[in-house]
Amino acid sequence: MKLFSLDLPIFMPDATLGTVRAVSTDQLKNTNTKMVVVNTYHLYLTLGIENLTKLGGIKKLMNWDGYILSDSGGFQVYSLIHKKSNLGKITQYVVYFKSPVNGSKTLLTPEISIDMQYAIDSDIFIALDDCRYSGVSRRDAETSVNYTIDWARRARDHFDKKNTRPNNKKIFAVIQGGSFKDLRERCARELIEMDFDGYCFGGWPVDDKGILVEDILKLVADLMPVHKPRYAMGVGKPEDIEKCVQLGYNMFDCVIPTRNARHGILYSSNGIVRIKHTKYKLDTNPIDSNCGCETCRNYTRAYVHHLLKNNEILGKTLATIHNLYYYQDLLKKNVKI
Ligand SMILES: [Zn+2]
Repeated sequence: MKLFSLDLPIFMPDATLGTVRAVSTDQLKNTNTKMVVVNTYHLYLTLGIENLTKLGGIKKLMNWDGYILSDSGGFQVYSLIHKKSNLGKITQYVVYFKSPVNGSKTLLTPEISIDMQYAIDSDIFIALDDCRYSGVSRRDAETSVNYTIDWARRARDHFDKKNTRPNNKKIFAVIQGGSFKDLRERCARELIEMDFDGYCFGGWPVDDKGILVEDILKLVADLMPVHKPRYAMGVGKPEDIEKCVQLGYNMFDCVIPTRNARHGILYSSNGIVRIKHTKYKLDTNPIDSNCGCETCRNYTRAYVHHLLKNNEILGKTLATIHNLYYYQDLLKKNVKI
């Protein structure tokens, strides 16, 4: 399946504030990355609609000629309000929260989220959703589905109203409903009636032990139209991505490859390489002899080990380049599935 000019499946690194941590835009391109995910909520709090519009959007700011997908902000609202800190309030019409940046009272609505994604100049927008934990109670899951459907309609209307000039922007919606089959079905049915360009798995894709919730992922994948992109948000480990490709998903983002890289956990065709381990101190092989990335072509395990052990910035950069290249290679191998 194609999305713009890209073959799916695709892996999109997280560039939360308009940067994939530790790598430059050129280095990012050289990992064969074609699309990144930026965070609407974080950019809203740091740059804001007005400034981002003045700067011409995040693509221009990053000097990025690839594609941008912006999330809706729903996940961050979940983290702030539902999960632990109770820093705000969600109603059917508006979300209030205390800005963690400056403590001011901040508003988020489906319309503001769309305005922000226009300011970002995203290629793919996501309608604001009410995200909950996958083990959510039925009552809370029902509220989340009601809000998500209502907000998706408002987001869709606002997106269409502003999307007048000829452009190629797309909007996706998120299917919520926790582990409740009927709620997931209702959410999917109502969102599909609104004719979004793609659909996302909402809620946590792993349980509290970090294990993929395969049964729910399968249920939701089967509810999504087969001719449109199916995005498993937040998945994940290489083996989980491969499982989700088998279930029908074809878009992925996750902090795992970049975060793990910075901590010295590297992926290879022979399994995980914990590069900070003493056994790599004098190892003059590349991280993965089957990898064509800049790091593996030019540097040894001993060098990356030495840099990361001494907390040198270049160590994080070389490790991130390798993990992203590995992930892009993995997805390329899955293209025909
Ligand atoms: Zn490599």
